[in-house]
Amino acid sequence: MSPFVSVVVPAYNEEPVIEATFGRLKKVLDDLEFEYELIFVNDGSKDGTLAKLRHIASEHSQVKVIDFSRNFGHQIAVTAGIEKASGDVVVLIDADLQDPPELIRDFLDKWREGYDVVYAVRAQRQGETWFKRWSASVFYRTLRRLTNVDIPLDTGDFRLMNRNVVDSLREIRERHRFIRGLVAWVGYRQIGIPYVRSDRFAGESKYPLSKMIRFSLDGITSFSYKPLQASTTLGFLGAAIGFVGILVILYLRLFTHLTIQGWTSLMVMVLFIGGIQLLMLGVLGEYIGRIYDEVRDRPLYLVKELLNFNDAEKDRRK
Ligand code: UDP
Ligand code: MG
Repeated sequence: MSPFVSVVVPAYNEEPVIEATFGRLKKVLDDLEFEYELIFVNDGSKDGTLAKLRHIASEHSQVKVIDFSRNFGHQIAVTAGIEKASGDVVVLIDADLQDPPELIRDFLDKWREGYDVVYAVRAQRQGETWFKRWSASVFYRTLRRLTNVDIPLDTGDFRLMNRNVVDSLREIRERHRFIRGLVAWVGYRQIGIPYVRSDRFAGESKYPLSKMIRFSLDGITSFSYKPLQASTTLGFLGAAIGFVGILVILYLRLFTHLTIQGWTSLMVMVLFIGGIQLLMLGVLGEYIGRIYDEVRDRPLYLVKELLNFNDAEKDRRK
């Protein structure tokens, strides 16, 4: 069976790579001899990304562009692409050629075997700093421990999804989206294939440490209450230590003359309890902030312009 393939590419300030990315994707997709559409989502780029995309779209009708009103973030850009995609299968891929487009062929082979999701597992990461590799590795393992959803290790958003998975994802309207987790959450038949993640073709990473931390917190809070429950555990622990402390202090008061020397232990306790309380307030804040974002119910993103979409596709629910 020959499917209609949609490929979704989020792009934020990717001017130096976008043409090369298009060229390689086009080559792979033309070779497959399927009908396809290539959806670029311009996530409020401040460089010449949009101009280049405009040019590409004017020459190739299968290239479509969603232009956001500002930068909404990687996961939202991918979401917009998924929502506007009309393919029987949808492929997500980064714009920086870290994910080899040639792997799409292997994705389709697995899809033909009957899998609904084929994701690429980073068996090796080239060109990234040891800190990025180490933090990513720690993050995926912590996430796995904290959640009940079976989110595959070392897997990004580079994947193929069948229509049933895409339709399920479209029903999920939450704001702080951690797409690789949501895809695991929807279920169906999933399989991973290993690949070597290469270095960026050009330009630099759009994920500085601060964004990486936000993204990790989104992943954890979307799929686990364990950080919240930690306050219960810490509370019990604190109470137990406190109880032992009371016995010790009473003993010292009643049977010795050492009671005046308590400053050190007092300060340790005050600082310790203060620290834990602030930490747990912070955890509460992370969850409450997200609840607040949900109830405000703002649109996930705003589109300034759509290029090469026909009217039916434009009307598709946001
Ligand atoms: N990206 C985006 N919006 C953002 C940040 C990133 O659309 O606010 C895109 C970016 O253009 C790229 C993909 O998301 O196609 C992954 O970003 P990047 O390569 O910078 O992340 P890394 O590979 O370093 O984790
Ligand atoms: Mg990258």
